[in-house]
Amino acid sequence: MTKKKVLVTGAAGFLGSHLCDRFIAEGYHVVGMDNLITGRMENIEHLMPLPDFEFCHHDVSKFVHVPGDLDYILHFASPASPIDYLKIPIQTLKVGSLGVHNLLGLARAKNARILIASTSEVYGDPLVHPQKEDYWGNVNPIGPRGVYDEAKRFQEAITMAYHTYHKLETRIVRIFNTYGPRMRLNDGRVLPAFIGQALRGEDLTVFGDGSQTRSFCYVDDLIEGIYRLLHSDYSGPVNIGNPDEITISQFAEEIIELTGTDQKVVYKPLPVNDPMQRQPNIDKAKAVLDWEPAVSRSEGLKITYDYFRSLPDTELHRKEHNNFDAYIK
Ligand code: UDP
Repeated sequence: MTKKKVLVTGAAGFLGSHLCDRFIAEGYHVVGMDNLITGRMENIEHLMPLPDFEFCHHDVSKFVHVPGDLDYILHFASPASPIDYLKIPIQTLKVGSLGVHNLLGLARAKNARILIASTSEVYGDPLVHPQKEDYWGNVNPIGPRGVYDEAKRFQEAITMAYHTYHKLETRIVRIFNTYGPRMRLNDGRVLPAFIGQALRGEDLTVFGDGSQTRSFCYVDDLIEGIYRLLHSDYSGPVNIGNPDEITISQFAEEIIELTGTDQKVVYKPLPVNDPMQRQPNIDKAKAVLDWEPAVSRSEGLKITYDYFRSLPDTELHRKEHNNFDAYIK
C-alpha cells in the first residue's frame, strides 16, 4: 500500500519539526518545506536520512511545486514570536497571505486536505475571557503586532473562502502559547527568555508589572490536538491550548524555582499592545476532538529545561539566529 503523503511548511521550526516527527511515526511520507529564515536544520537533522522524509528549501510566498500526489498540507511556516515578526514584518505578512494562497491553490490542484496554523493572536488584546472561537477579537491592525495578527486573520478568511467557494477540505487550528524542546533560546518569547537568563546567570526580565496572564501548553499536547483536528470532519476554527492560566510574575517565580537560580526579577516596560490576558476556552476541542491537555506545566517545564540545559554553551550566548542573516533578503 502506498503511504499517505503530507506537506509540512515551516518544517524546520519549533512546531513544524514536531509535526514532521509525528507524521513519520504514524507511517506517512513527509515533505518538509522551509526557507530557514527562522527555522533551523538542527530540528530536523535526525529525519534527513529517512527514506520517508524529504526536505525542500523553499519560500512558500513564491509558487509552491510538489511533484506527485499529496493527501494533506499543514501550513506552519511563519515567524511566530513578537521579536521575529518585528524584525521581518513584510515576510510575516507575505507568508500569511501570498504563502497561504499558494498552498490553498496547491491543495486544490492535488485534491488535498489543508490545515492552517492560526493563533490566539486573532483575538488580539481580548475583551472576552476566556476566549471562545466565536469571539471576533480586539486587534490593532497598525500596531507592532498587526503584521502577524492581521496576516493570520486574513489567512483564516481566505481559507474559509476556499472552503465555501471551492469546497476545499480545510481545517483551522488557533494555537495558544505553546512551549517545549526546540524553541529557540533567543526568539524573545517569555519561556526561553527566562530560562536563558537563568542559565546565563542574568536577572529575569518581566515586562510591565507582570500581572498580564498567559496559558502555556506543552508541545506534545498541541501536536496531538492538531493530529486529531486534521483527521476530524470539522472545518471551523478550533482553539488548542492549555487553560491553566498564570500571571507572568508567577511564571518568573516558577522558573526561578525550577532552575534554582539566585537571580532576581527586574521589571521592564510593557511592549505596545501586549495582551493583558489570554486563556483558551477548549470546550470545542473537547466536544469535537475528544481532546484536552495531558501534560501539567511542572512536567512540561522540567522536560523543556532539561532540553535547554543540554544545549552547547554557544547556543546560550547566541544573539542572532544563525540562519537569519544568511537568508534574509
Ligand atoms: N515577557 C516578559 N519578559 C520577557 C519576554 C516576554 O515579561 O523577557 C512577557 C510579554 O510581555 C508577554 C508575555 O511575557 O506579556 C508572553 O510573551 P511572549 O513573547 O512569550 O508571547 P505573546 O503571548 O505575548 O505572543
